[in-house]
Amino acid sequence: MPNIEHNIAKLYQRIATAAEKSARKPESVLLLAVSKTRSVQEIRTAYQLGLNHFGENYLQDALDKIEQLKDLAIYWHFIGPLQSNKTRLVAENFDWVHTIDRLKIARRLSDQRPSGKKAPLNCCIQVNIDREASKSGLAAEELEKLARQMLELPHLRLRGLMAIPALSNDHQQQSQSFAKMTTLLRQLRAQIPAAAPQLDTLSMGMSADMELAIEEGASIVRIGTALFGPRSPIKDKF
Ligand SMILES: *Cc1c(COP(=O)(O)O)cnc(C)c1O
Repeated sequence: MPNIEHNIAKLYQRIATAAEKSARKPESVLLLAVSKTRSVQEIRTAYQLGLNHFGENYLQDALDKIEQLKDLAIYWHFIGPLQSNKTRLVAENFDWVHTIDRLKIARRLSDQRPSGKKAPLNCCIQVNIDREASKSGLAAEELEKLARQMLELPHLRLRGLMAIPALSNDHQQQSQSFAKMTTLLRQLRAQIPAAAPQLDTLSMGMSADMELAIEEGASIVRIGTALFGPRSPIKDKF
């Protein structure tokens, strides 16, 4: 088993270095532990070491873990592709959804959010920032419209934007994609000033590119491999 304690320490160092480089506070970046394919024991270990935000992609696996870990005060983030027949279980069991790219899904999540006992579901709109045919996420031009519609939904709280940029070894190109996201969020705040204070989230950056994302303004980095070690390709269907 990889040394999760050591990995967390290294990750906080990487976050601090990247934040300092861009004159940001390290505390302004949330480390979201991506625990897809990981066991409940690994999640418990990471939790005991101070992490309390965990991200999952596969709903059924996630629900099993959420049930087994309900003694812990964990914020669960859904970061996988979301079909409409799965929205109810996500609305009932998660605190965040990062991958909303159409109104139908947003409406269902709001309608199905158990009212009263839970806070609104925190949401990010996924942007297909590099316009890849294979990727989910909506085009930048459609963002304002969906944001305005989502702001009308009573049980959702729109928090910002999420992206998975195209795989690339070209750091400059990756930085440009992250910078575009920062510009899009700034534009959205200007277009809808009443919502500006709540639009505080940019979910971008993974194990290999988190520094670039932080330097361009990421507020949540989604980290799996650098925290828990390599994933088994058999378990990881994504
Ligand atoms: C798996 C996954 C991650 C984590 O990727 P690593 O490279 O292992 O850090 C982040 N975001 C999403 C949406 C993922 O599916």
